[in-house]
Order: sequence, then C-alpha cells, then structure tokens
Amino acid sequence: MRILNGIAGAPGVVSGKVLYYEKKVGSSAETDIDTAVKKCIDKVKKMYNKALADLGEDKAKIFFAYEMLLGDQMFIGPIKEAIAGGDEPEKAVADVSESMSGVLMKKENEYLRQRADDIRNVGNMLREIICGADDDFSFPEGDDKYIISAQELTPVDTMLFDHSRLLGFVTKEGGATSHTVILAKSIGIPAVVGVSELDRSSDDADAYLDGYAGEFVINPDAEAKSVYDKRVLDEQELLKSLDTIKKNDAYTKDGERIKVAVNIGKPSDLKCSEDSKFDGVGLFRSEFLYSSSKEKPPVKQQCEAYKKAADLVYPKSVTIRTLDVGGDKQIEYFHMPKEENPFLGNRGIRLCLSNEGVFSDQLKALLMAGYGKRLKIMLPMVTRIEEITRTRELLAEVKEELEREGTPAADDIELGIMIETPASAIMSEVLAKHCDFFSIGTNDLVQYIMSADRGNSAVEKVYNPFNPAVLKMIYKVIQDGADAGIEVSVCGDLAANPDFTEILLGMGLKKFSVPLPMLNRIKKKISDINLSSAKDVANEVLKAEDEYEVEKIIRRG
Ligand code: PEP
Ligand code: MG
Repeated sequence: MRILNGIAGAPGVVSGKVLYYEKKVGSSAETDIDTAVKKCIDKVKKMYNKALADLGEDKAKIFFAYEMLLGDQMFIGPIKEAIAGGDEPEKAVADVSESMSGVLMKKENEYLRQRADDIRNVGNMLREIICGADDDFSFPEGDDKYIISAQELTPVDTMLFDHSRLLGFVTKEGGATSHTVILAKSIGIPAVVGVSELDRSSDDADAYLDGYAGEFVINPDAEAKSVYDKRVLDEQELLKSLDTIKKNDAYTKDGERIKVAVNIGKPSDLKCSEDSKFDGVGLFRSEFLYSSSKEKPPVKQQCEAYKKAADLVYPKSVTIRTLDVGGDKQIEYFHMPKEENPFLGNRGIRLCLSNEGVFSDQLKALLMAGYGKRLKIMLPMVTRIEEITRTRELLAEVKEELEREGTPAADDIELGIMIETPASAIMSEVLAKHCDFFSIGTNDLVQYIMSADRGNSAVEKVYNPFNPAVLKMIYKVIQDGADAGIEVSVCGDLAANPDFTEILLGMGLKKFSVPLPMLNRIKKKISDINLSSAKDVANEVLKAEDEYEVEKIIRRG
C-alpha cells in the first residue's frame, strides 16, 4: 500500500482502478511550425466547441484564449525567428514559451500569471504536434470508470477524456486553482494535485482518491479499505442527498430559513445552475465586462449584461459589485500608474471615484438595467463614509440625466458595501447608517486584517481565516448589521467553506453567497446544523486565543 499526499483540488471521494495517462511523444520534428500551428488551432477550436456544449461558456473561454495566443505574432513570431536562425522547431517552441511564461510568472498580477499557464500549455501542445505525439486517447474496452493519474493534465487533455468514464484526477503538477481543478469541479469529480511520485507502476492498481483530504491511496490494505470505503459511502450518501437538497430552499435542522445566493462573473455562469434553488446572485463581479474587451465597455453593453442576469434570477435579486480593479486585478486601458503597494493603493471604489466618468457610466448602466428588475449595487473596498455619500451624489446626477433623456431608470436602488477592509469592519456600526446592506468579502478581509498577501504562498500560514482576529471582526460586522436592521451576507471564500458554516450560522449570519459548484453542498451543510448548538460553538470559538485552538474546536464536531 502507498498513501500519497497532495493538495485537495476538487471535492469528492472515489474508489476504482488507476489509469496512468501519458502521451507518446516522438523524439524529433515530424511537422513544420506552420502546419503545427494550423493543426493546433483546429484542435483548440474542437475543444472549445466540446467545452461549450458540455461545460458552458465560462470554461470554454480557456480554449478561445489559446486560439488567440496561436494567432498572436508576439508569441509565434519569435518562434519562427528562432527556427530561421537554425533552432530545431521543438526547441524553439520550448525556449520561447518557457521564457515568455517565466517573465509573466514573476508578475504580481494574477491575470498575467494565468496567461503564463496558457503559454506553457499552448507551447506543450505545439511541441507535441511537432513531434507527432499520439493523443488519440481512448479508455480500455468496457464500461469501467478510472482514476486518471498523470504528471500533468492540460485543459485540452481533460477535455479529450470521455467524462462518463472518469472517476477523478490525480496529478503531480498544478495548484489548487489550476485549470484542471476548475474543470474537475465543473465535471463534478474529485481532483488531487501536487502529488510527487506518480508513475506508471500504479497503472491498473486499485485505489482511493480523496479530494477533501488530498490523498491518493494505491493498493490499500484491509485497514485502509475499511476507512476509505466509509468515506466513499458517506460521499455517495451526500451526493444522493444533494439531489433532494437542490430542489429546496436552505433551512437549518431546527427550521431557520437561511439564504444561499451564488457568486457569478457573468450572466452565462447561471446556465450551470440547472434546476437548483438559490436566493439570487449575492455577488456579480462586474470586472469581466472591463477585462474582456480592449476598451471600456459601452453603457448599452453593460446594461444588457446586468439586465440579463437580473432577468435570469427574477423575482430573486442580483447584487452587482461595481468595478473592482487595482491591486491584483489590472486593466490595460486604465493606464494605472505603477504603485509601490498596489494592494494599499488606488483600487476598488477609490479608483472608481478617481475616474468618475467611467464610474458614472457604470452607475448609469445599473440604473437603466434595474428598471422594473430586482437589482442592487455594491461598492468594493470601502473604507470611508465619503465613498458612499459621493456614490449617492453620482447616482442622483446620473438619475437626473436619464430622466432628462426620458430613459426609464430604477427608483430607490439599494446601495450596499463590501466589508473587506479593517476600517470598514471597525466602523461597521456607523457605516450601517449610510448603506442598505453589507456583504463581507473574507478574501480581502483576511489579507488586510492579518497583513498577509492572499496570493503569496510564503505567508499562507499567516493568511489564516481560522485566526480569532478575523472571526471576531466578522462577528462584530454581523452583529452591527443586525442591530441596524440591514442585511449582512458573506460572499468571500469562507461562505463556501463547509468548515465555517456552523460558526457563521452561530454568529448570526443569515445569508451566504457561494460559487455555484458549492451551492448545494453548503445548503446541505446548513440543513445538518442546529442553530442553538451553532451558537455555543461560535461563542467558544470567539473566546479562543489562536488559530490552532479555533481549528481544534471546529474539527472536533
Ligand atoms: C473578497 O474579497 O472576499 C471578495 C469576494 O472579492 P474578490 O475575491 O473579488 O476580491
Ligand atoms: Mg475583494
């Protein structure tokens, strides 16, 4: 028996045979670069259509990005130059993609780091085609399902598999937010990444894959079998119960109605919600409208996107977060000056208020889209009252302008704020008087309270939501919101983490907003919790002195 540990990627526990996936790559160039690029474009187009049909537009866009890259002379040009200078095509592709992705990997900007991943994946595909790699993969005869084990799986590889025969993925390469993990989540299978020591020797072995614990168990002995069989059974029970849960609203075990909304990046994300019941959209990150085009999106285009989301969930509401860029999220045409400390710089509402023209356009689109719909506006990165009052003034100006034009606009649109900075959390009692709702953005709140960059693995021990400093802040905000009679939700990752459901409920939280793949799991978790005992656990946690004590209390249950 071998138990290999890795990073928990996508949730689930399965047992089955292992299939070691490896492409047969020739050793020398069989195809010239132009033919290889053409073949590669055909391949990613096919993948785009398959992903669009199976997984929706959001996942398919990965392949669209690949196609763009293959047509980009900034990428293909230097490869051709190196070949003209005498390099073997395979070497030229490897050198150029490695050096370009290496430069981008060092950037602070998350978007650019993801592009590095794209360049590496496209480079690998091109090299495989050049070397005549055989990727006509097919599963062994029969209907058996397999746990795929591989050194690395590109999004293209994952799309090549017949999904009905997949139990899960385990790979050496890739992090918790890699495309393979994202795709595994949308297919609904577990994934464990970052497992060293994967090789062909496990081919056809019996194994367990636990996507919660990040464990891959090969040739289990009798003792391990009884432990992991129980986990597989529990998971099957959970999945069965999710089928019932998805048709219902969320209630705690003792009958308290809790709202569970979803986080989206664009209206088409809602396509994946199928027949699940949820309480509207708690966070619509409007950045995609700005980052997916080369210039700022026209009011009409924005209005259509907001309206579409509002229509899809009506009569439930959609909360649209106004543009939240700066920090780790850059938009080229904004020409944001380089800052020494971008996370403490001109980002979120600050940036919007220093570009009032752009901001007013967004407010205009929101007021137009909100007419006759249930749409709310939410401001990111708020630290001061003035940011809310200035937004209200701009809203009034835009409303007047629309009235003059005779364009219908929403009346009394609700205006809320994200609580994701220490200043807003400390002053939540006062801020509650100036806005209609709070949504706690725990991703940023944790980083600012703990003074630890959310994307820096060197300080991931400090960036710890179990820390009492974070939990005390969240409790305070929930209480201040309740005292002021305004709605409080959590829309950061903590809301989607089942480890925190009980304490958030115990602290008095009545609304969660989570990514769609976690919707029914969180509804299920809520249904297993008794509010009165949740309050006891929350009280205990709030007395804890450090994150280890908190974790112990949470894990005990
Ligand atoms: C957050 O900070 O918790 C949040 C939801 O916003 P984002 O992750 O988009 O910064
Ligand atoms: Mg945030």
